[in-house]
Amino acid sequence: MADYDYDLFVIGAGSGGVRAARLAAMSGAKVAVAEEHRVGGTCVIRGCVPKKFMVYASEFAHHFETAKGFGWTVGEPTFDWPVFLAEKDKEIARLSGVYVRNLQNAGAELIHGKAKMTDPHTVEVEGKGSVTAGKILIATGGQPWAPKDLPGGEHAISSNEAFQLPELPRRIVIAGGGYIAVEFAGIFNGLGVETTLVHRGPNVLRGFDDDVRAHLTEEMEQRGIKVLLGAQHGSIEKTAEGLVSHCIDGHDLVSDVVLFALGREPYTEGLGLEACGVALTETGAVKVDAFSRTNVEHIWAVGDVTDRINLTPVAIREGQAFAETEFYGRPTSFDHEMVASAVFSQPPIGSVGLSEADARHKLGKVDIYLSRFRPMKYAFTGGHERALIKLVVDAASERIVGCHVVGPDGPEIIQMAAIAIKMGVTKPQWDSTCAVHPTLAEELVTMREKYVPPGLGQAA
Ligand code: FAD
Repeated sequence: MADYDYDLFVIGAGSGGVRAARLAAMSGAKVAVAEEHRVGGTCVIRGCVPKKFMVYASEFAHHFETAKGFGWTVGEPTFDWPVFLAEKDKEIARLSGVYVRNLQNAGAELIHGKAKMTDPHTVEVEGKGSVTAGKILIATGGQPWAPKDLPGGEHAISSNEAFQLPELPRRIVIAGGGYIAVEFAGIFNGLGVETTLVHRGPNVLRGFDDDVRAHLTEEMEQRGIKVLLGAQHGSIEKTAEGLVSHCIDGHDLVSDVVLFALGREPYTEGLGLEACGVALTETGAVKVDAFSRTNVEHIWAVGDVTDRINLTPVAIREGQAFAETEFYGRPTSFDHEMVASAVFSQPPIGSVGLSEADARHKLGKVDIYLSRFRPMKYAFTGGHERALIKLVVDAASERIVGCHVVGPDGPEIIQMAAIAIKMGVTKPQWDSTCAVHPTLAEELVTMREKYVPPGLGQAA
């Protein structure tokens, strides 16, 4: 084998890259990782982690209201955005430091700068020169997508900037209907910002179960978020009153901040993929096989840049599977079936498996179990909040193929449900599990009556 500077060169120190680099280095391989920004990647610096802190911060408004129902006297709560930002940034810096130390302790070398491949064994890092590597792993993640030619589009920010706003706006317009859009809508609304969500589709969270989507929209509106569906930006105008979002359907919305959360795209710019002949998919993602191999020998890719399931734990498991295969002699491919996910909207969602519509399409006859109820926590508040729990069952095999929870602790509940569902649990086995009382989750194992969706009749 030819002599290279490194056995493995990883481009990108995010969720997938760090896991692969650490494991490979721990096998005794000589590993380098290039990072152009901060170690930790999207998840730690401008994604899951700061987002969850913002969700926590914003939920207090609701807790204060709930507390009143239980007899608490809560004065006029105030929120200090700069204090929160400083605390958040301190914790993010600490976590990024942990990632750096973990890489170093494993023996991987960290190189700061933007990396570019110049041939299938050579990587050039801006300002640091070129090195060679036996294997290259692309783990460069994704970036926010925004329309390039929208008049006034330059006035909008992306999720990246939403984490660092110099001050909390009085009014915000959020464009998008994906999980990032609904999460930010809940965050800003909770922090007292007048929040409007503009989405061009018929409902938010495309790909999720339709009952979940409808339920979340209703609940968001109950909490004061203005949701405009079937609407989309035509232009943004900067005026003395603020930013005016001129929507194609005729709405003109004035706000202090316009946040575009319109989706993300694989981050492949300036990577030198063409020079190496690395093939892309139709969506511009790096094309890989089940073992994360690209079409070019010695080059692999994991995480969001491959646009399979764009979640942190998936990037980590893909990075791990790559390292197991290539550096431990254990061929491993990550199974992308039945990956559970959470949406930290308010109320939050936990979901695993198929939506009802996808199950009907794929399996034909399915049985649905659905319950809508007021969570106990809100019994004294006089509010209209409802939780939703839904099971989708393959009628032929009785296997549970989908589980969806909207309500307090939905994301925590779904992690456990996902284990049983991934193992192929049937509805009778599921029901044989005794309930934990009084909890929201007990409803999951006590639904006995099949639900007939309106319009489907008994034949469904
Ligand atoms: P990343 O973590 O994006 O890491 C890629 C790294 O590569 C970056 O640090 C980047 O700077 C670096 N890089 C790129 N190009 C180069 C180059 N040429 N040279 C050197 N360095 C380079 N997922 C969840 O599971 N749960 C959540 O709750 C969640 N919330 C999210 C909220 C938001 C607002 C966003 C944006 C994302 C969220 N995600 C969440 C998704 C999650 O962050 C990603 O799926 C995950 O970070 C992907 O990991 P990755 O390793 O593929 O890429």
